[in-house]
Amino acid sequence: MAGIYIHIPFCRYKCNYCNFYSLASTRNMDRVPHAILNELKKRNDYLAGQNVETIYFGGGTPSVLPASDIESMVKAIYKNYPVEKEAEITLEANPDDLTPEKLSALKKAGINRLSMGIQSFRQEDLDFLSRTHSSSQVTQCISDAQQAGFHNLSIDLIYGIPTLTDEGWKENLEKAFSFGISHISAYSLTVEDKTPLEVMIRKGKLKPVDENLSLSHYHILSELMQQHGYEHYEISNFCLPGAYSRHNTAYWQGKHYLGIGPSAHSYNGVSRCRNVANLVKYIETAASGHVESEREVLSLVTQLNEYIMTSLRTMWGCDLVKVKHKFGSGNAEKLLVNALGYIETKQMVYQDGKLILTPEGRLFADGISAALFGEEEL
Ligand code: SF4
Repeated sequence: MAGIYIHIPFCRYKCNYCNFYSLASTRNMDRVPHAILNELKKRNDYLAGQNVETIYFGGGTPSVLPASDIESMVKAIYKNYPVEKEAEITLEANPDDLTPEKLSALKKAGINRLSMGIQSFRQEDLDFLSRTHSSSQVTQCISDAQQAGFHNLSIDLIYGIPTLTDEGWKENLEKAFSFGISHISAYSLTVEDKTPLEVMIRKGKLKPVDENLSLSHYHILSELMQQHGYEHYEISNFCLPGAYSRHNTAYWQGKHYLGIGPSAHSYNGVSRCRNVANLVKYIETAASGHVESEREVLSLVTQLNEYIMTSLRTMWGCDLVKVKHKFGSGNAEKLLVNALGYIETKQMVYQDGKLILTPEGRLFADGISAALFGEEEL
């Protein structure tokens, strides 16, 4: 089983906190679908005939494209790859793109899951983040999407925003619950270097982010999600029973995926490759059939460390039987011995052969993973 990721690098506006590869310009936008179709056709051997279980349009903001372009890409995937009958087909969308007409057209194009970048239901937070949609557009687009038959809905929320009090954060979450949204991704606001947000905070024009506020929001998040029956299945992801993002879960489980579009990554179990993060170069090289890309062959120790890092982020944890099978019993034993300190401090549990972070341990997931990494080449 494998996945296909399509990167659409355009946004209507560059949000002040964003450091993804995306362009706030429509220049060359009409050339990209054709380049993507070309790349899709040329790289149809990358997944070695594995069935495609998930397709994901990410960005950037894929909803800036006309639904007809999305439909052509979905059709091309079905034509060139063995797609499973019940494949999950997700599109990331921003509220300001989603009119009722666009929603119906996307449904018709084959999209069966929407991931909406709403970030907050409150106008003051949206203003702080320089988002272009309004709080009324947020509620409108969620009901329009449900009306259009999108029941597999995910929303992104951001916490730790200086304008967001504990009460405001609870309101945001309650609002999401009131819509019966089955999947919620919640991220702490991170101030990335050289973003306009970082510059404005440095110059004193915007309030700085307070770690204690983020921590308080994280505790509220965990508690309310649990009360409302959501599973905390990955550090930043929550869902009602069974409504996991199949595409993202496949990444965390180390399944193979093909990434199409500028800057997209692909992974086939032994190597990772990254398409050129330059739109014009991408379009030109896709036309000639060979997209410029960088390939990194992953050593065994890198594969082990990636598995430790991604699996510990999930509620399924790091499976020592898998580690033993793929990396040898010595590595599985070493991992368990190194984890004992975290088990003692109750940041981790060991059950059914798996190391799983507790809610307390999840706060330090990156540091704990790094401490468990193997160092020597296997
Ligand atoms: S819409 Fe998303 S990808 Fe685009 S600039 Fe904003 S945060 Fe970045």
